[in-house]
Amino acid sequence: MFFIELIHNITLLVALTTIYQVVLSRNKKNPLTQVLLFGVLFGLAGVVGMMAPVQYGNGVIFDGRSIILFIAGMFGGPLSALISALIISLYRVWLGGGGVLVGIAVTVVSASIGVAFYFYRKSVGGSLKALSLLGAGLLVHVIMLSLFLYLPNGIGVNVIKELGPTIMLFYPVATMLICLLFQDYEEKELSRGELHRLAYYDSLTGLPNRSLQIERLNHSLSICKSAGCKGALILLNLDRFKTLNDARGHAVGDMLLCLVADRLKPLIEAEGVLARMSADEFAVLIKNNASNSVDVETAAHQLADKIQIALKFPIQLGEDEISASSSIGITTFPINAEDIAGDVFRRADTAMHQAKQNGGNQSILFEQSMASVAEQRFKIERELRMAIPAGELMLYLQSQVSAAGTLVGAEALVRWQHPERGLVPPSLFIPVAEETDLIVDVDVWVLTQTCRILAAQDVYSLPLRISVNISPRHFRQRSFVASIKKILADTGADPTHLTLEVTEGLVIDNISEVVAKMTELTLLGIHFSLDDFGTGYSSLSHLKRLPIHELKIDKTFVQDAPTDPDDAALVESVLAIAKHMKLNVVAEGVETQEQADFLNARAEVIHQGYLYSKPEPSASWVKSLAKQ
Ligand code: C2E
Ligand code: CA
Ligand code: CA
Repeated sequence: MFFIELIHNITLLVALTTIYQVVLSRNKKNPLTQVLLFGVLFGLAGVVGMMAPVQYGNGVIFDGRSIILFIAGMFGGPLSALISALIISLYRVWLGGGGVLVGIAVTVVSASIGVAFYFYRKSVGGSLKALSLLGAGLLVHVIMLSLFLYLPNGIGVNVIKELGPTIMLFYPVATMLICLLFQDYEEKELSRGELHRLAYYDSLTGLPNRSLQIERLNHSLSICKSAGCKGALILLNLDRFKTLNDARGHAVGDMLLCLVADRLKPLIEAEGVLARMSADEFAVLIKNNASNSVDVETAAHQLADKIQIALKFPIQLGEDEISASSSIGITTFPINAEDIAGDVFRRADTAMHQAKQNGGNQSILFEQSMASVAEQRFKIERELRMAIPAGELMLYLQSQVSAAGTLVGAEALVRWQHPERGLVPPSLFIPVAEETDLIVDVDVWVLTQTCRILAAQDVYSLPLRISVNISPRHFRQRSFVASIKKILADTGADPTHLTLEVTEGLVIDNISEVVAKMTELTLLGIHFSLDDFGTGYSSLSHLKRLPIHELKIDKTFVQDAPTDPDDAALVESVLAIAKHMKLNVVAEGVETQEQADFLNARAEVIHQGYLYSKPEPSASWVKSLAKQ
């Protein structure tokens, strides 16, 4: 009889764990409701337990409410414990009989010990060990048995004698086991919440991550496919983020990403869902689908404009104030029944790359013609990565001559001897390489080959300089200066025979860092030449700070100077600047005598162009030196 009752009560408690789970998972967002519900449910469970109790004499009943109340206190806290204790006590009073007072005392004591353990658990900040829980069970039930001594007519002693050993054997263990069940469930719930965040949210910005955005996009895609509507995806990549990250360090880069996320989130909220896809790339999924592409395109373009404007407002990064911009790619979806999230992202990415290539700070809508270009670039990148170790790159040199026609040096120009496509000009692969660190490998290869030539016996003592093109991405690397020094040391080349060509684009970066790097190399005897001068936007004040020796006038100006007054004026002003700053000038792309005459009439410049010689394989260029 007693055992059956015990099992009955324990079953009830196990059922309670299920109730607990439901309460926990349904009311996550409202803790007060959770606590109230919890108290009521445990109170009612106690009442159900008391409906089929062990009867012991007149008005003395015995059941599992000690455990229920302890658990209500331990897992629900003071308010839950109070509510369930009240419900149970009221029911006990209503039942009446001689054991009422002791019954209420047991109720209050069990609930109070539960509450004490609730706070104890909070103070240790996690689940309690089985042994502590067993201790709690023992405490509750030892006190309960002691309270039995106050039962009327001295029946307490008999109750303790008859039920005491069984109670002390089973009830503390049952308390422990049920507590373990509850704790276990709580831990799972907790880890499911922390895990969900890890799997779907970006830890830096707190924004949804790539996985969540892909899920959302897939959902939106399937809705659009079945309802016949159109959605749009915006992909944005911050311009020049890598430069900032390299120059100022990752902490500053992270700070910028967080500030950008904070700024964009409220701006976009009403119209789209923002996510961080990777380093400096964010994606916005337009919330409202439209019945046709044009409408959703318009909405996406408007949102993209809003983003660009928002980024332009100054952002405080430590002591500096910067203004950001981004390259944005937009695509609508679905374009066919097979469209999947990956396709949509690829299209947005292609358009975004186009925007970046056009100079950034703009939004571009994907067009089908872009896809083949992107495919081509991807292929080039993959093949070039293998071409360098496979020895497919070739060094060409193009002579530079003085106004009097004597050889003064050469420019190193790279070519790619492709096994199937033949000789690939740099215009086809340098821009692709420049999008990744591949350009650094190309630059290092060219530098090394050039330095080997400079160090060769026949060349070492000649008064020549060879210029090597340095891509901005390479220059910005922290290890740039060290890597140049290493190449010089490894090859034994004389640094006073080496010129590095950099572009104006570098100058708008962190100028003091640029100056520091250049100065360090200049001290070795290396010269710097500003390539494509006139096509960029560097200010003269910036230019004055750079330790450069030479300006190269871009071939577009040189070629039209004799016929186009604007180009003539530009060439003349470059010559004036060079004279003022005491810099050498190299005129590039001199193809005709007319162009050479135009230059010679105005200043003494170095000429480089087809009029004198085309770029030729380095070996034949070195050979022809002997004939000079
Ligand atoms: P760039 O630095 O402005 O190089 C000058 C380009 O003008 C070369 O084209 C050269 O062949 C061409 N050129 C020289 N004289 C004449 C002429 O009289 N008429 C015409 N129409 N063109 C002339 P190339 O070799 O095709 O190189 C194109 C660009 O590729 C270079 O422009 C440079 O930006 C890049 N590049 C080439 N080699 C390297 C390299 O080793 N590293 C890096 N980072 N970039 C390179
Ligand atoms: Ca150049
Ligand atoms: Ca040039």
